[in-house]
Amino acid sequence: MQHLTTIGFDADDTLWQNEQFFRMTQHHFAELLADFAAADHLGERLLEAERRNLGHYGFGIKGFTLSMIETAIEVTDGKVPSRVIADILDAGREMLRHPVETLPHARETLTELAGSHRLVLITKGDLFDQERKVAASGLGDLLDAVEIVSDKKAETYRTLFARHGDGPERAMMVGNSLKSDVIPAIEAGGWGVLVPHDLTWELEHAEAPREAERFHEMPTLAELAALVRDIG
Ligand SMILES: [Mg+2]
Repeated sequence: MQHLTTIGFDADDTLWQNEQFFRMTQHHFAELLADFAAADHLGERLLEAERRNLGHYGFGIKGFTLSMIETAIEVTDGKVPSRVIADILDAGREMLRHPVETLPHARETLTELAGSHRLVLITKGDLFDQERKVAASGLGDLLDAVEIVSDKKAETYRTLFARHGDGPERAMMVGNSLKSDVIPAIEAGGWGVLVPHDLTWELEHAEAPREAERFHEMPTLAELAALVRDIG
């Protein structure tokens, strides 16, 4: 019997670059508000707003844009010029147009595994934006399914790996976030493979489950196919 039949892939900063666009925009945001707040203080306030707003807006660029506006109002005591608000909205729209840059080994790894395993893209974020990125990445044809979800919890993986595979026990999730990709997939009964990215959003950090038998970590996707063959 094949032990592993289904492999879930995170998208942002696993198959293609993402966080770098948030960092660039945040840098621009700090410049726009330089007269009102120091960059580090502004960054903290923005992160607080994002955390507060996750339950309202979910993950993605639209929520990030609204959190920037909220933070701009806060740090200026309500005096933020409308020109700055317009610039923030422009910066958000600019993010929604950013080119899709796939990460090294993404295409070859998916190509190598596509014949033998069911491959499912599992991502959070704005629906339109993620659909756009899947199309622009050119990786869509290698995937058996694309799931854009509001959050990634153990229950999410139980449901999705039952829907697209043979349940979480015969599935693996691969991603750059311990909190969203690795830990909940292992909790659901599957394998969790961490492929770290230099840039990972602060709210995605968590302690690595080093004691878990089904936890693996690798520097790039280049080593994934060998691990999959080992598991059998
Ligand atoms: Mg990610």
